[in-house]
Amino acid sequence: MSRIAVIGAGIAGLTLTAELQLAGHGVTVFEKSRGPGGRCATRRSEAGPFDHGASSLHAVTAAFGAQVLEWQRAGWIAADTAEGARQLIGVPSMNAVAQHLAGEVRPTLNLRAEAHVCAIEPGAPAGWRLRMLDGTLDAGHFDAVAVAVPAEQAAALLAPDVALTEVLWLTRSEPCWTVMAAWAEPWAAPVAAWVSTDPTAVLARAHRDDARAGRPAVQGIANRWVLHATPQWSADHLAMAQADVISALSAAFANALGVSPPPPVHAAAHCWRYAQVPGPRAEPCGWNASLQLGACGDGWHRAGDIGGAPPDGIERAWLSGRAMARQMALTLSPG
Ligand SMILES: Cc1cc2nc3c(=O)[nH]c(=O)nc-3n(C[C@H](O)[C@H](O)[C@H](O)COP(=O)(O)OP(=O)(O)OC[C@H]3O[C@@H](n4cnc5c(N)ncnc54)[C@H](O)[C@@H]3O)c2cc1C
Repeated sequence: MSRIAVIGAGIAGLTLTAELQLAGHGVTVFEKSRGPGGRCATRRSEAGPFDHGASSLHAVTAAFGAQVLEWQRAGWIAADTAEGARQLIGVPSMNAVAQHLAGEVRPTLNLRAEAHVCAIEPGAPAGWRLRMLDGTLDAGHFDAVAVAVPAEQAAALLAPDVALTEVLWLTRSEPCWTVMAAWAEPWAAPVAAWVSTDPTAVLARAHRDDARAGRPAVQGIANRWVLHATPQWSADHLAMAQADVISALSAAFANALGVSPPPPVHAAAHCWRYAQVPGPRAEPCGWNASLQLGACGDGWHRAGDIGGAPPDGIERAWLSGRAMARQMALTLSPG
């Protein structure tokens, strides 16, 4: 059995972890946030939950299609038509799949939440140890380390592997400013979702979160919306104050829908510094068998099935995490 550290409990890290555990390896997952999910995120608030990261998922590959069907049968995701076209969403929130994945492996999983890794250091006489953000060295000794975080953040961690670091620095993620707003008074919106086709606009898309399948009703709240800025606007306004972002996106939203909503009773903004990857790498993941170090996630696995459409972020994360487990299996000591 190998002792493996997985850094990041998003879809990629959790998929990788599940496969490694199935193969009998001892896995410790380090996650800097309070819980699993990463960008499949749900923000809790007094006005109810908001899916402020990924808003839906879909499968273009046969492998992920089969997985999605299983998740649907298990009730982790459901088809939803609130936004017009049929799409698949996590229930009761987009974070559900990650919560269930973590739950499935939890009986034997060492999931370390609020554990921010800042460096991977050589162990003695071999293997790896992890330096935490507070400067302490984690007590664990690992035979292998897999980094399942956005490419730019992985590059900063994978200094011991110069070649992999260079590859990761070439991957660029686009940012996304997101606004979550809730209203106590009902007001009529002409649509439950809106998408822009103009990459130079302020607003990229907006969806009415409370109208989606399985979302809880919250007393005193009539509706909840999530607004996403375009990558261009987000990149141009990375340092903007949250209150100004809320004003700018709210104005663009009112203008796009042709409505004048009353002032919201709740409004918050979140900046995803590394939201989506427009040009993922062709390789399924990066694994250095001699160093026993690697990286996976949505910055990898550009291709879908032969002749098929390219996979979106969640699907790439899943495919990449699974591919990583298979590459690692070739060189790890058997479980
Ligand atoms: C606003 C937005 C909208 C999106 N819409 C869609 C969509 O509709 N459909 C779709 O398919 N995809 C969408 N995506 C992209 C999708 O969410 C991601 O591609 C996917 O979730 C990536 O999963 P991952 O496991 O690779 O990375 P992540 O989900 O980012 O997981 C990485 C994890 O690592 C943790 N971490 C990072 N650094 C460290 C560290 N140093 N130490 C410990 N832990 C660390 C993070 O906290 C995080 O939990 C969207 C993303 C955003 C932000």
